[in-house]
Amino acid sequence: MRHTPLPQFQAEAPVAIAFDVLDQMLRDQAEQHGLALHSGHGRSTWVEIGQGEYGARRQGDGVIVFARANSRDWLFTLKEAATAHVAALGCVTAQALNWTGPEQAGAFPPNFSLGRVAWVRPLGTDFLRMRIDAGDIARLGRDMIHFRIVLPQPDGPTEWPRLSETGQAIFPQDLHRPAYTVSAIDVDAGWLETDIFVHDGGRICDFASRTEAGTELGVMGPGGGGVPLAGRLLIGGDETAYPALARIIAAQAPEARIDCHLFGVSADYALPAHPGLRLTHSPAGEADLAATLTEIGAEKVWIATEKGRLQPLKQAVLRHIPKDRSHLAAYWNASAG
Ligand SMILES: Cc1cc2nc3c(=O)[nH]c(=O)nc-3n(C[C@H](O)[C@H](O)[C@H](O)COP(=O)(O)OP(=O)(O)OC[C@H]3O[C@@H](n4cnc5c(N)ncnc54)[C@H](O)[C@@H]3O)c2cc1C
Repeated sequence: MRHTPLPQFQAEAPVAIAFDVLDQMLRDQAEQHGLALHSGHGRSTWVEIGQGEYGARRQGDGVIVFARANSRDWLFTLKEAATAHVAALGCVTAQALNWTGPEQAGAFPPNFSLGRVAWVRPLGTDFLRMRIDAGDIARLGRDMIHFRIVLPQPDGPTEWPRLSETGQAIFPQDLHRPAYTVSAIDVDAGWLETDIFVHDGGRICDFASRTEAGTELGVMGPGGGGVPLAGRLLIGGDETAYPALARIIAAQAPEARIDCHLFGVSADYALPAHPGLRLTHSPAGEADLAATLTEIGAEKVWIATEKGRLQPLKQAVLRHIPKDRSHLAAYWNASAG
């Protein structure tokens, strides 16, 4: 049942799928990702994500999928998420979802804007820091810390994503768009910075090391989780997560106690000073930490690392702490081609 005001921005799409199937899908999502689940007298079910929600409700003999949010760009992100989950059920295609909503066909999706590389500088031995001039990025300056870099085509003109007539983002070309963390942002000046871990074969690393000031690229988001706040935190990650760890540490109250594990080969990344920070550097030490976790005193756990190395830690953490107090994310996959 709803006890809070309806978010301001709303969109919905009729769907030819039984309500019970969508209800189960939403319950699975809530279980898998630790999301708050709501039910309206068996006629509607929805999950909360960030400053919004998506779900399904019975309407007459039919079923409606809906998304609601407190901003247009987050509404769009939730519509995209709902569309992907509904399409994954295999009963309808994403294109069959005819969303209502405030967007215009042919325009950029509300969670996308074009930016230009301002500069790229080495950061320690393992990272490149890239500043992107991106105009209106207020949507990225709120509580979410991640976004996607959308790379231009390496050769030939780039066709950036556009909204279809049913309000979905269409990518005419399959553009590479991995997730990154906003390391620093100045919404008024219109720039953001991201720290790129340099690894073999990385298309973003390659782009960043060769690009020139003024090169156009896409900025998509926000996405992913926000920053956990707690009196006592257990956090950790490999190099790809160091920028996010820095944002998490910087956001904690001075009296917080933060137990931070760095699993990267290198620890050459400047984390913010914090009086309650205890750092442990144990390269590829995820399984070792998992083996020693007999209890978790922390109120919240946040860990992001390579997919295979995350697994033992995930099992160990979830033995001691409920899903809704943990964020355990695979940031890359060593077995991906
Ligand atoms: C929410 C989120 C936030 C992230 N934030 C950051 C961030 O701030 N900074 C950052 O550097 N990364 C970050 N990552 C990880 C980043 O998205 C991946 O490493 C991504 O694969 C990089 O894309 P690429 O184009 O460089 O590599 P790709 O061209 O996609 O991959 C090429 C090859 O590199 C391998 N590979 C990918 N990552 C690594 C790695 N770390 N070490 C060794 N091999 C690798 C792949 O398995 C693949 O074989 C984040 C990921 C997520 C999900």
